[in-house]
Amino acid sequence: NDRKSTSYEHLFKYIMVGDSAVGKSNLLLQFVDKRFAPNSDFTIGVEFGSRSININDKQIKLQIWDTAGQEKFRSITRAYYRGAVCAMIVYDITRRDSFESLNSWLTDCRKFSSCDVTTVLIGNKADLEANRQVSTSEAKEFAEKNGLMFFETSAKTALNVDEAFEKSTEQILKKLE
Ligand code: GDP
Ligand code: MG
Repeated sequence: NDRKSTSYEHLFKYIMVGDSAVGKSNLLLQFVDKRFAPNSDFTIGVEFGSRSININDKQIKLQIWDTAGQEKFRSITRAYYRGAVCAMIVYDITRRDSFESLNSWLTDCRKFSSCDVTTVLIGNKADLEANRQVSTSEAKEFAEKNGLMFFETSAKTALNVDEAFEKSTEQILKKLE
């Protein structure tokens, strides 16, 4: 039944932000396509992908907007917070500078998205443990202080990728109850 496969109870818009090269596009690729691109190109402006998931017997369609991290695209990115029910702020656990940028991404998020947006902190590239520059406990503390959900993921091995989308969707559904 074609109608069944295309129907859904909710359509949730997600936005992925964070510094360039932290793995936003690959997280999207892994979640939507179960693929990893070792040499992916810079995202120009904004791209999007979608996938439906089933939570508590409900079909939820996630429409995920993937933005470019570079400063020159920042004003374009800002326009995409509107209508988003979830913002994923991504850093790279092997790059301290991408963690230091989080406050600036949070500021944008608070300014340009709606007030009840679910915000998720993602420490990506968890497969590169030997090169880690940000400890799990430090990131967890930052997340707690700022009221963010927190996951360490790997877009390469798929560690926690589905979980981050599923748990955040559950949280959004709870807010709707
Ligand atoms: P974006 O600019 O934030 O969209 O980052 P990309 O998704 O384009 O990824 C930047 C680079 O990091 C690419 O070479 C990816 O293959 C690599 N990469 C992304 N995620 C991971 C990951 O979880 N583990 C590893 N080892 N590399 C990753
Ligand atoms: Mg990208």
